[in-house]
Amino acid sequence: MDIFDKYATVSGRHDELLKIGSDPFAVCFEEMYSSTEGRVNGRRTILVGTNNYMGITFDPECIEAACDAIKTFGTGTTGSRIANGTYGLHQALEEEIADFLGRRSAIVFSTGYQANLGMLAGLAGPKDTILMDSDSHSSMYDGCRLSGASVVRFRHNDPADLDRRLTRLGDDGGCRLVIVEGIYSMLGDRAPLREFVEVKKHHGAFLFVDEAHSLGVIGENGRGVAEEQGVEDEVDFVAGTFSKSLGSIGGYGASNHPKFDVLRFTSRPYMFTASPSPSNVASVLTALKRLRAEPERRQRLWNNARQLYDGLSGLGFEICAPMGPVIALKMPDEATAVQAWNLLLENGVYVNLALPPGTPNGACLLRCSLSAAHTAEQIDQVIERFGAVTAIIADQREMVAQAGE
Ligand code: PMP
Repeated sequence: MDIFDKYATVSGRHDELLKIGSDPFAVCFEEMYSSTEGRVNGRRTILVGTNNYMGITFDPECIEAACDAIKTFGTGTTGSRIANGTYGLHQALEEEIADFLGRRSAIVFSTGYQANLGMLAGLAGPKDTILMDSDSHSSMYDGCRLSGASVVRFRHNDPADLDRRLTRLGDDGGCRLVIVEGIYSMLGDRAPLREFVEVKKHHGAFLFVDEAHSLGVIGENGRGVAEEQGVEDEVDFVAGTFSKSLGSIGGYGASNHPKFDVLRFTSRPYMFTASPSPSNVASVLTALKRLRAEPERRQRLWNNARQLYDGLSGLGFEICAPMGPVIALKMPDEATAVQAWNLLLENGVYVNLALPPGTPNGACLLRCSLSAAHTAEQIDQVIERFGAVTAIIADQREMVAQAGE
């Protein structure tokens, strides 16, 4: 038996995908022209699947801050935060995040994935129970495992189901930690946080919200879905990433809990990995300041979301959530999704192809994410190319149907 035999099914499925066109898991941006355009397969391509919500990756101030930090602090920290990997920059960023979110304390992690691992594994232990929304990101699933806590999944965005499950659990002396996201990454729908807060208060549970896709995007000041719904004080722990609105890499957790900083010497994904590089931290610090100072970026993002949403719904696509910067189109089946994704790419449009089991309810999705940096002309082109692609697929279907008659 070979050690890779266990992947036979998944490899077979991957081979089938390759027969249709490009490898969706190996797309290469050979060159980046801006935060919204790059070269893919030698072709100039509009990027509509990058989570670059603020379009800040080519911001001159962020680039300058990153270059200065490399020159001043070097290319990497070569150590973990609890050894030689804490620089003044990391502390300055933690202070800026805490100040922005209005939290007592913030902790920086090396990625958003590790922020979720580190927060969940640090907060919950084997005597506790984590109640997790079933559509949660993989990093939350993995954080649950690492924590050793019992895990109970509740139906996606269903506070009544959460309430039932908490009631059923009763009291075993352990803590209850409810974990949800602000905006869900795949479908772009939002958590009903106000209702979740009512349930968690009733049961004396703690509430954790991953605002990875909502930081900078939602709320009057861009603090996320908790800000939008007016429940920030009731969210005990918040986590997020620097790899989306802030255009870099890294993640954070934040809280008002007076003992929160104990995670710095109890959370393994914080302690046993190198800290983010000085250039990353410096660009995030600058990006966060820009985001705070320029709310008009958020307005541009929402205008762009509106334009794409209206255009795609006008073409008859089934969109999985109300209008927002993540626009996921439900495709009828895997073959159509893969074919449409390839045709879009051949026509100079990159979106995310998302297939089961990585999607909720086994859906096959073309997932778009908007940027404040997209122009109205780019979005018009994207809509026009979606229209052309659906026409090609409809024509092919008709030919096949006629051939079968
Ligand atoms: N949480 C959510 C909801 C995400 O969508 C992602 C990334 N897609 C992460 C966490 C992980 O973030 P990062 O890419 O910074 O590791």
